[in-house]
Amino acid sequence: MDSNHGSPVPIGKSRLGIFSSLLTCSQQDQPVSPGKYTRSGSRKSAASLDDVRSNGWLDAMKASSPPRKKLLKGSNIQVASIDHETEDYLSWMLDYPSALECFDKIVDRAKNNKIAIFLDYDGTLSPIVDNPDCAFMSESMRATVRSVAKYFPTAIISGRSRDKVFDLVKLTELYYAGSHGMDIIGPACDSLSKVHPDCVKSRDDQGKEITLFQPAREFISLIDQVFKTLVEITKDIKGAKVENHKFCVSVHYRNVEENNWTAIGQRVHDVVKDYPRLRLTHGRKVLEVRPMIDWNKGKAVEFLLESLGFTDRDSVLPIYIGDDKTDEDAFKVLRESQQGYGILVSSVMKESNALYSLRDTNEVMKFLQLLVNLKRQEGRTRDRP
Ligand SMILES: [Mg+2]
Repeated sequence: MDSNHGSPVPIGKSRLGIFSSLLTCSQQDQPVSPGKYTRSGSRKSAASLDDVRSNGWLDAMKASSPPRKKLLKGSNIQVASIDHETEDYLSWMLDYPSALECFDKIVDRAKNNKIAIFLDYDGTLSPIVDNPDCAFMSESMRATVRSVAKYFPTAIISGRSRDKVFDLVKLTELYYAGSHGMDIIGPACDSLSKVHPDCVKSRDDQGKEITLFQPAREFISLIDQVFKTLVEITKDIKGAKVENHKFCVSVHYRNVEENNWTAIGQRVHDVVKDYPRLRLTHGRKVLEVRPMIDWNKGKAVEFLLESLGFTDRDSVLPIYIGDDKTDEDAFKVLRESQQGYGILVSSVMKESNALYSLRDTNEVMKFLQLLVNLKRQEGRTRDRP
C-alpha cells in the first residue's frame, strides 16, 4: 500500500473553527523528527520516551503525564486570543491531520480491500478518569462499536487484562487482546499454530472456535509475585493503585500528590531492577512492568490479521486507533508496512508514528459512525433495483 496519500488538500471546515486554511490532509511520509513540535521550554508536552533508565525516571514520569489541555472551541474566538499552544497544535495537525476531515481519503484506499478495525480502550473508547475501575464507555459508544463490528472485523487491544477489558466493553462480537497484546483471543486459524506453536485452539462461551495465544504465559507467576511486592511497597503512598493484568502490572500515580512521585517512582524502580526479565515503561500517569519479550501491540495486530485470514496484506486496510505510547508499536507496524492507518487520539501535541489524529473519544465515535454509515449507504445502493 502506498503511503503517499496525494498532494495537500485544504480542509474546508476546521473542527476547531479557526485557522482552517492551515489544516490539510497532507501526509507525512517521513519519520517524525524528535522535538519537531516544541516551542522553547515545552518539550515535555510533546514527549517521546524510551524505557525508564536508572536515572531520570522522575523526569520521565512528568514528561509522560502532561496535563490534559482543552482546545479553544467555537467560531467566535478572536484570532488575537489564540495562544501559542493552539498555534503549535494547529501546526502539529499539518502532519497529523484530522481523520474526520480526511475520512473520504482514508476509505478511498479501501475500495478494493476489506477494512479491519483495531481499537485501544482507555482514552480511545472511554475517557481517562481518576479511578481506572471507573473508565466506562458510554452506551452510545458501545452501540457504535457494535455496529462497526457488524461490518468490519474488529478487535480491542488494551493494556488491561483481557477479562477486565471484556467486562468493560461487553461485546461478544469483537476479538480481544489484553495485557498489551500478550493475551489474545482471535478466530480459529490453523496456519498460525505453525508459526506460533503456543497457540491453543479452544471454544468461547458461545461455542465458537477460537485461537488463544499468550506469548508471555511463562511470566504469569513472576508477574503475580511482583504485583504483590508492588502492592506492599506502595501501600503507604496515598492514591497509589497497583493493578495485576496477568501478564503485566500497572502502578497508577494519577491520584498521588506530585511530591510523592519521587517516592513511588524510586520504589517501583528498585523492585524492577532486581528482575532482569522484566522491564519498566511509562504510560500516562502509570508505570508499567512488563515481560522482556519481543511482543507488543504491533505484533498483536499482525497476529490478528493473520488469524482473520488476511495472509495477503494487500487485501486488507487495517485502521488502528489509540492514544497510548504502547499504541505506537502498532502505528509503527502499519506505517512501515505501508498497509494501513494509525490514528492517534490526542488533544495535545505528541510525536507519533500515526498518520492521522482524532482529538478525543467523541471524535473517535464520530469516525466510527462514519465508517458504519458508509457501509449502510453501500448496502442501500446495492439493494436499489
Ligand atoms: Mg489508551
